[in-house]
Amino acid sequence: MLKGHPYGLHRVLDPVGAMPQAAWKLDNQPVCYDNEILIDVEVLNIDSASFAQIREEAGNHPQQVAAIMHRIVRDRGKHHNPVTGSGGMLVGRVAEVGPVIRRRGDLEVGDKIATLVSLSLTPLVMEEIKHIDMKNGQVEITGKAILFESGIYAKMPDDVPDRVALAVFDVCGAPAQTARLVKPGNSVVIFGAGGKSGLTVLRQARLSSGSGNIVAVEYGEAACERVRKLGWADAVLNLDATKPAEVYAAVHDVLGPDMADVVINCVNVSNTEMSSILCARELGSVYFFSMATSFTAAALGAEGIGKDVNMVIGNGYCKGHAEFAMNLVRNTPELLRVFEEKFAIV
Ligand code: NAP
Repeated sequence: MLKGHPYGLHRVLDPVGAMPQAAWKLDNQPVCYDNEILIDVEVLNIDSASFAQIREEAGNHPQQVAAIMHRIVRDRGKHHNPVTGSGGMLVGRVAEVGPVIRRRGDLEVGDKIATLVSLSLTPLVMEEIKHIDMKNGQVEITGKAILFESGIYAKMPDDVPDRVALAVFDVCGAPAQTARLVKPGNSVVIFGAGGKSGLTVLRQARLSSGSGNIVAVEYGEAACERVRKLGWADAVLNLDATKPAEVYAAVHDVLGPDMADVVINCVNVSNTEMSSILCARELGSVYFFSMATSFTAAALGAEGIGKDVNMVIGNGYCKGHAEFAMNLVRNTPELLRVFEEKFAIV
């Protein structure tokens, strides 16, 4: 049997010496090395920033979306959007387990798992696209994927619908990081609070902050109304996060000159860095969970306005994040219900 590198370096085709995430192209042969897991893929959950970009390029036509997805995987051996640089994750059944992984004793052929590493580093073969959920970016396919020895995964829970669990796993780093960042009494501003990550962040921010002031920013009245109904935010503002001057004025009206201790950005569009930075107090924290964030725009923008804030990159991983997020949803029936509604399960 072929022996693989723990980080999947044996799968990198171009450029030689790169890590799989940074590589342009991976070897996606569906052959299981000694330290890999081969998966029969059922659903891809395309990262929201990536799917929004593909949908726009495709003029909102499902067939065109499918053509672009096939092109990406054909060119790169993985679903790594070359425009946004982001991936997503997948759910499928274990088809084969290499002996190195088998020794761990926690995975059997036939188990249903969600990968918790990005599609941007997951070797993938896409045979057929069966259905595209144009609203939520979940795509039913037949295909095969490879998980490296270092790749983390979660078994699908049996008490939460698959499509909801997949969406929650995709964004599970966000509420877990929120629990680390938000302290009792903190004021928090959340951009994209009505989206999948935003809703989990909003719930966790309320739990962690207690009586602190929570401001939710969403774009569009219907989305704002959904957030208002949950009752976790002190103020829900209907604002375009790409318009920093308007955002600053509206949040200033609510929080006053100190602005927020913590700002969390969960939107799926570009050009929202300055709105986020402007809403943070001096020495406050800005957590950029959004994959549409530009490091350059954030760093140079903050410097340009002389704002001394801690900026946190949205590392998708933190220890125990999957269980943390799933328990948050399980223990908050209103949150589970909103997710079920999003995926038309109720
Ligand atoms: P989502 O469910 O699509 O939520 C995005 C939210 O942002 C939506 O509620 C959307 O409103 C709102 N929004 C869009 N444009 C806006 C604007 N101009 N002003 C204010 N709000 C706006 O996406 P998600 O799955 O939660 O993902 C959110 C972000 O996290 C994405 O950038 C995604 O790439 C990133 N992400 C990061 C990681 C990581 O590991 N760091 C993992 C997963 C996802 P509408 O629905 O009305 O458009």
